[in-house]
Amino acid sequence: MNDKIAAHFSKPLVTKYRYERLRHCDKCGSFTSLRGPVCSSCKRSGTLKPLARIGAGKARFRTAVEALLLTAAAISAVYLSPNAVQRTATALLGAGLLVGYGLLLRRYSGIFAPYRLHRLLVEKSPQIADGLDADEKAAEADYEADRYRECYEKLREVGVFVLEDRIRYNKIICLGRFVLRKDMDLELESVVPRKYSKLFVHYMWEVSKVNRTLIREKSLDYALRFRSDIEKLSYGTELLTNVASAALRSKTNLSACEYLIGDYAIALPRDRFIRLCGMLSNARWEYPNLTARVAQIAESRYAHDPEVQALIR
Ligand SMILES: [Zn+2]
Repeated sequence: MNDKIAAHFSKPLVTKYRYERLRHCDKCGSFTSLRGPVCSSCKRSGTLKPLARIGAGKARFRTAVEALLLTAAAISAVYLSPNAVQRTATALLGAGLLVGYGLLLRRYSGIFAPYRLHRLLVEKSPQIADGLDADEKAAEADYEADRYRECYEKLREVGVFVLEDRIRYNKIICLGRFVLRKDMDLELESVVPRKYSKLFVHYMWEVSKVNRTLIREKSLDYALRFRSDIEKLSYGTELLTNVASAALRSKTNLSACEYLIGDYAIALPRDRFIRLCGMLSNARWEYPNLTARVAQIAESRYAHDPEVQALIR
């Protein structure tokens, strides 16, 4: 695509739990994963509040009702007591119960709050699914109107909840509209699809050219699984060389990627080849085939390179 555009994405929102990203509309009751001020369902502005706040509101209401019932029971018991001694004893007992209830609440509120929030999420899951659907439609509308950055940022939020290839492909289609740069908050692992996809492989190639550190476990596994398909592509060799290069990030990748690294070691840039030699220098007996192939390359391509020669001896 020649008409690629430059874009600056907003920083991805980082939350401890996924539900913290959800907001609820006070007016129409729907949910949204999007960050803007506008509700995706009713299009009103300023009506959204965090889901956790509804959970806290419900918990406060329930506590107030329970405390009120306990107080009413204590007052009734005092009122029905036949004499002053029993009334005093009942009043003390009622006060004790209320204090005990307060202490229990204080002690276990940390357990009750997540439990109530979980119940709320289960109870509202159909409405949450509808809200995510509305968010996806809002993203589609952005795409139709050529607002690709807005579309992508919406899909990025929806994709945290909807783990389907449809969202992954749509994100990649949007990303295909941009000039990719190393300083962008690009994603790769989160858009790895379940099946072979030329669209994804092309995106992976584009990413591997600007930031190969994004190639991690899922994308490495994908490249290994569909290696024969990738090799048929015009840019297959370049992509697989970049993947082999990325695999050298960690020694733990050596066993899974041994053959890929061996086959593409000849095309690795010098600094990555030196890294490979360094990794093998302490693991020659573990990877005898790879070591032999690397030694051959070192002899043919780096015969006059003292740094390489020192590492393979
Ligand atoms: Zn609304």
